[in-house]
Amino acid sequence: MKKERNVSAKSTNRSTKTTIIQTGNGLQNGQNKCPKCGSTDISLNPKTGNLRCNFCRYEFAEEKLEDFSSDLSKLEGQMIGSGVQDRILDTNDIITLKCTSCGAEVVIDTREVTQARCHWCRNTLSIQEQIPNGSIPDMVLPFHVTKMEAQKEIEKFVGKRKFFAHPQFQKEFTTENIMGVYFPYMVIDENAHASFIGEGEQFVRSYVRGNNQNQMVYYDADLYHVEREFDLTISDLTLESKKDRLDGTKANQTNNVINAIMPFDIENAVKWNANYLKGYTSERRDTNIDELKDFVEIQSKDIARFAASETLKQYDRGVRWENEEFQMKGQEWKAAYLPVWLYSYQQEKNQEKILHYVAVNARTKEVMGSVPIHYPKLLIVSFFLELIGIFLMFTVDFDYSFLFATIGFFYYFVIWNRYRNKSERHHYEKETKTEMKNIRKVDRFIQRERNLSNATIRGANYQDVSNQSFAEKIKKTFYQD
Ligand SMILES: [Zn+2]
Ligand SMILES: [Zn+2]
Repeated sequence: MKKERNVSAKSTNRSTKTTIIQTGNGLQNGQNKCPKCGSTDISLNPKTGNLRCNFCRYEFAEEKLEDFSSDLSKLEGQMIGSGVQDRILDTNDIITLKCTSCGAEVVIDTREVTQARCHWCRNTLSIQEQIPNGSIPDMVLPFHVTKMEAQKEIEKFVGKRKFFAHPQFQKEFTTENIMGVYFPYMVIDENAHASFIGEGEQFVRSYVRGNNQNQMVYYDADLYHVEREFDLTISDLTLESKKDRLDGTKANQTNNVINAIMPFDIENAVKWNANYLKGYTSERRDTNIDELKDFVEIQSKDIARFAASETLKQYDRGVRWENEEFQMKGQEWKAAYLPVWLYSYQQEKNQEKILHYVAVNARTKEVMGSVPIHYPKLLIVSFFLELIGIFLMFTVDFDYSFLFATIGFFYYFVIWNRYRNKSERHHYEKETKTEMKNIRKVDRFIQRERNLSNATIRGANYQDVSNQSFAEKIKKTFYQD
């Protein structure tokens, strides 16, 4: 028998106790019938987000998937939905179902779909039980934006980026073929404890010194010893659970724009029901909890740091933490399919291929995208602006007239950013729901500092995010070889 190692919460922030919660809707594989008329022809009505019987038009919804623990602040150990369990690699993806109406056998390839029609009696057969290959999650957030609405949003987004768009792209752009995709995510709730120790500064006054040639601004500030310690619950932290999508740094694929349309209203997600996927495509999860844990921890620490910064408003010159501790006491994991409308465009550029996406959150209509740029045009316009800038630098009498010489570069960068949106991402550190409790604060005056040359505290890190360590972690976890 395998002996479980007993690790106390003090010595590690990872408890080993795991409870698996069965999240199935209780239905068996096979016919999933309309509660009113018994038809199996059921699909999602994206106008309402409900299921609709295509025979009698009756609308209904699957039950919501509630949190596993009623009080997150008391959660200890790990609770996971049955849809989160490790994928078993030799699982047979092909499942054969027997139609209960006519007895025919229907084959479903779960890599592609979770439903198929019986060729003989036209009944729809669905996969309802969770098979351990990552294709059946615990919950689904139904599409609530129609294709037409999504097309409008995408056209609006691209329409604002026409002038410098690549001519080939302009010619080929159409929203006719946009896809409704359910992407796989992990949704995590946490109960944690965090503590921070460092120093903060408050502005007192500023003054100018020196002669006309060499003027310098100096600052006086009050220096404080600062401590914050608190219990923290985090709700619905959402992470891509497909390796490819999690990697927002890929050069040939603009995944970051799909990341940027988060957050979703996860609280409205319902239990898995294959009917929600009819007419849409889905990607399935290819990661397990163990591979994602470190990413969750990196983001959770950022979230804790931002929660702490809410209590630091009096330090207008900022805070520098010298010691940070984060202890994860308990967590809940659920696997989810979340709805995205996706336009994609493959650009071929000197033998390199870049996949540009424009993505619409199919709940909130938030849009983000990447539009291929016509570089010759952008360079010419920037160059002319640069010439004008240089002319102005020599003709306008103004202390900072040298700034005119940067105008062309500045313009180039602004436009490039507006079209490609390469730095866009989901701001989880601010947009994730948190609750702080039992806050302990220390704010102890140390001394007044004079003649400081910095406008803010040196080494301020109270609003840092760990983008860099996240990207490195991706490399280490997924591309070891
Ligand atoms: Zn019906
Ligand atoms: Zn049949």
